[in-house]
Amino acid sequence: MIRQFGGARRRLIEELAEKGIDDVSVLKAFDDVPRHLFVPSGLHHRAYEDAPLPIGHGQTISQPWVHAKYLQLLALTGRERVLEIGTGSGFQTALLTRLAGEVFTIERIPELAEEARRSLSACGIERVSQRVGDGTLGWPEQGPYDAILVGAASPDVPAPLLEQLAVGGQLLVPVGGRDEQVLMRIRRTEGGFERAKLDAMRFVPLIGTHGFEA
Ligand code: SAM
Repeated sequence: MIRQFGGARRRLIEELAEKGIDDVSVLKAFDDVPRHLFVPSGLHHRAYEDAPLPIGHGQTISQPWVHAKYLQLLALTGRERVLEIGTGSGFQTALLTRLAGEVFTIERIPELAEEARRSLSACGIERVSQRVGDGTLGWPEQGPYDAILVGAASPDVPAPLLEQLAVGGQLLVPVGGRDEQVLMRIRRTEGGFERAKLDAMRFVPLIGTHGFEA
């Protein structure tokens, strides 16, 4: 089951490389983690398309290129403490376990969190701390984090996430309207925060205290 779709997986990895993903550790993580185990069974045959797919509850598993782009930007070394907001399918969570030291993830929809837990477990991944709740508040008890990834569109940068970033750490968050956003990278320095606007993105909304209203 885990090694199924080997040919399709290799073609996806080649496609990601053609689209500018050249970090070998990121490409290897895509080879290690079977994306078909993170989508509904009726969509297994489409799991290795470079496309978002529905996962129920009006949510999507993000496009593989988006996950790869995030991971390449973070340039993780295997030692970092990472917080992911928007577990969704759990696929990026699984990729993170291949690249970071400790992974914490928050999802607001309990059924998706449970399904993600099952998918992670089916891949033999137990080394993840999961929480159901409002990720716009972060997870202060476990911070500070070397990296925080937001996998949903936010109207602004959630202040609690900035506070929970370690010095030298970086936050990736798509900021904008419900229909279109710009990916922002924010690095925490000794003196404050450095902000950069990167690629245009399209995510489902981040719903919560520091996000959009439901
Ligand atoms: N990386 C995930 C994936 O590919 O499966 C992203 C999934 S989807 C694009 C974004 C997820 O963020 C959804 O599951 C949604 O329920 C979740 N979400 C939205 N607002 C949230 C919040 N305030 N806290 C935690 N999760 C939230």
